[in-house]
Amino acid sequence: MQLDSKSPTGPIEKRWEDHRFHLKLVNPANKRKYTILVVGTGLAGGSAAATLAELGYNVKCFCFQDSPRRAHSIAAQGGINAAKNYHNDGDSVYRLFYDTVKGGDFRSRESNVYRLATLSLNIIDQCVAQGVPFAREYSGYLDNRSFGGAQVSRTFYARGQTGQQLLLGAYQALERQIGAGAVTMFPRTEMLDLIVVDGKARGIVTRNLLTGKMESHMGDAVVLGTGGYGNVFYLSTNAKGCNATAIWRAHKRGALFANPCFTQIHPTCIPVSGDYQSKLTLMSESLRNDGRVWVPLKKGDKRAASQIPEAERDYFLERKYPSFGNLVPRDVASRNAKQVCDEGRGVGETGLAVYLDFRDAIERLGKHVIKERYGNLFDMYQRITGEDPYQEPMRIYPAIHYTMGGLWVDYNLMSNIPGLYVIGEANFSDHGANRLGASALMQGLADGYFVLPNTIGDYLASNKFEKVAASHAAVREAESHVTEITRRLLEAKGTRSVDSYHRELGKIMWENCGMARNAWGLKQALAEIPPLREQFWRDVKVLGSGEELNQSLEKAGRVADFFELAELMCLDALERNESCGGHFREEYQTPEGEAARDDAHYSYAAAWEFGGAGQAPVLHKEPLTFEYVHPAQRSYK
Ligand SMILES: Cc1cc2nc3c(=O)[nH]c(=O)nc-3n(C[C@H](O)[C@H](O)[C@H](O)COP(=O)(O)OP(=O)(O)OC[C@H]3O[C@@H](n4cnc5c(N)ncnc54)[C@H](O)[C@@H]3O)c2cc1C
Repeated sequence: MQLDSKSPTGPIEKRWEDHRFHLKLVNPANKRKYTILVVGTGLAGGSAAATLAELGYNVKCFCFQDSPRRAHSIAAQGGINAAKNYHNDGDSVYRLFYDTVKGGDFRSRESNVYRLATLSLNIIDQCVAQGVPFAREYSGYLDNRSFGGAQVSRTFYARGQTGQQLLLGAYQALERQIGAGAVTMFPRTEMLDLIVVDGKARGIVTRNLLTGKMESHMGDAVVLGTGGYGNVFYLSTNAKGCNATAIWRAHKRGALFANPCFTQIHPTCIPVSGDYQSKLTLMSESLRNDGRVWVPLKKGDKRAASQIPEAERDYFLERKYPSFGNLVPRDVASRNAKQVCDEGRGVGETGLAVYLDFRDAIERLGKHVIKERYGNLFDMYQRITGEDPYQEPMRIYPAIHYTMGGLWVDYNLMSNIPGLYVIGEANFSDHGANRLGASALMQGLADGYFVLPNTIGDYLASNKFEKVAASHAAVREAESHVTEITRRLLEAKGTRSVDSYHRELGKIMWENCGMARNAWGLKQALAEIPPLREQFWRDVKVLGSGEELNQSLEKAGRVADFFELAELMCLDALERNESCGGHFREEYQTPEGEAARDDAHYSYAAAWEFGGAGQAPVLHKEPLTFEYVHPAQRSYK
C-alpha cells in the first residue's frame, strides 16, 4: 500500500494557503445536500459539527454521554497554546512550530505542525469572540503562562478549567446549530461499527445506550473525533468512559492505525494509593510554573518534608536541566521522577512519589496569588489526599495521560478509507512521539474549526454519492457483526467482572509497555495478552440484558477492543528499536539516560493495517523528512 500524506511542498509558511486554494469548493447552495456524520462532541468533534453546520452542511452528531458538553475535553485544566506573543518574550509562529517538532522528538510531519502553529492565532480570536473567559492581566490583555518544552509564555488559560470553558464555547456554537435544525444530535448513542460501501466510508452502526436499539445512519462522509485510548492502561487521568471502540472498529474495517505505542505519561498526577483504585487525577502541568520538584538527597529518608533542610534536598530537574528547569517536557520530567524513585529516593508511604513544592512561590508571591492561579487544583488535591498543599508539598507521580498514536490521516485529515476523517486526539496527530503541554486543545480546535471544514469540501465536490439503502449488503453485514458481538458478551455468563479483566490487562500494559519498555517485557506482554483475551471472551460476566441501559455491556465491548489494541501497541513498541519521546526503550539510551533515537532506521510514522482475525497486522511506513528543523539530540539542559 502506498501512503500518500498529501503534504504540500514549497515554502513552509505558504503551504496551507496554497493547498487550501487548490482544494475544490462546494457551492453554498449545494452544501445542504450533503450529510456528514460527526462522532464525538469534544473540542474536536463539537467544533467540527458546529462549523460544518454553520457552513451549510447537514450534520448528524453523536456522543455517548447524556449531553455533548460532557465530553472528556471538559476535564482539561491547564491551557491552550497560541503564538500570539502578547508577552513580547520572543514567541512567533516559527518558534511554536520549532518547539513542537523538537518536543515531539522529530516524529511528526513538518507541514502539519507549521499549519497548527499558524492556526493557533485564529483559535484564540474565535474563542474570545465566542465569549470564552480567558484569564486577563492588569492591562486587560489576555494573560499567558508557561508550559513544558518552551521558554516563552504562550499558554492561554481560564484558571484550571480551560477545557471546560473552551468546550462551553464549542457547545454553544453546536447548540445554536441544533436549534436551527442544521445538526441532529444523538446523545447516549455509541458508534459500534463503520459502514464501508464501495471502498468509501458511508455510515455507522450505533446502539442507543438507553434502550439498546441498534440503528444505522448513512451519510456522505464520516468524521471521528472520538478521543484517545489511554484507558487501555485501566488507570489513567482520562475520564472513565474514554475508549478506543470507534477508531478500533474503523481500523478493523481498513483504516490504518499509526504509532499506537506513542503514549504520554504525565509527570504530575496524584500517586496511586491502592489496588482497588479505578482512576488517577491529574495535577496540571501549569503548577510547574511555580512548584519546584524535589526528593531527598539521601535514599530512604522518611522525614517529613518540612524537616528536610535545603542542603539535603535534590531539585533534580533544576540541577540536570538548568535552562528549562521544572518546565522540561513531560517525557523528560516523567523519566527523571521514575529514576529517582527507582534509586530509593521517592517519598510518601509507597516511595513512588516526588514532591511538588510551592513554599518558595508562596513566600515570594503570597498565598492569595497562588490561590488565584491554581485554587481549584489545590482544593482538588486536598479533597483527594486530605493534605493541605499550601502547608506541605504535593506528592506527585507520573501516570498515563494522552495518546499520540491514533488513526493515520493525510494532510487533509482523511484516513486511508476515502470519506473517513479523523480529528483531535483520535488521529495520530501532530505531536510525534511526545506532545507538549497545552497543545492537544490547540490541535483539536484547529482540526475542528479550521482544517476539516476546508478539506472535507474537496472530497465531497470530487465524488459522486449514490444513496445507500438500509438493505444494502454492507449495512446488513455491519449490523449483524455488532449484534453478534453483543450476543457473545451477554451469553458468556462467566465468573469474572469486566473491570477485573480490564485491571489485569492494564497492569500488563503499565509494567511492560509503560514508562520504560524493553524487548523482553514487550515479548512477555505479547505472550500474556492473547490467552487473557480468550479467557475474557469465555469467562466474562456481563450483567443485565441488551435492551436496557447496561453499563456492564458498554464496558465489556470497550474492554474487548482494548485487548486487541493492547497487542498492537506492544507489537509497535517492539518493532521500534529506538527511544523517542514517550517511547523509551531501555536498550536505547544515551550515556546520560536520555532517549536515543535512530533516525537512520526509524524516521517514519508506523501505520498498521489490520491483517484479519487471528492474522498478523501489516506495517506500512510513511517516511518523515525535515527541511526546517533539523533532527538533533533533544537538549533541555
Ligand atoms: C485531566 C486532563 C487534563 C488535560 N488538560 C489539558 C490541557 O490543559 N491542555 C491541553 O491542550 N490538553 C489537555 N488534556 C488533553 C485534552 O483534554 C484532550 O486531548 C482533548 O480534550 C481531546 O479532545 P477530543 O475532542 O479529541 O476528544 P474528547 O474530548 O475525548 O471527546 C470524545 C468524544 O467522542 C465521543 N465518543 C467516543 N467514542 C464514541 C463512540 N464509540 N460513539 C459515540 N461517541 C463516541 C464522546 O462521547 C465524546 O463526545 C488533558 C487531558 C486530561 C485527561
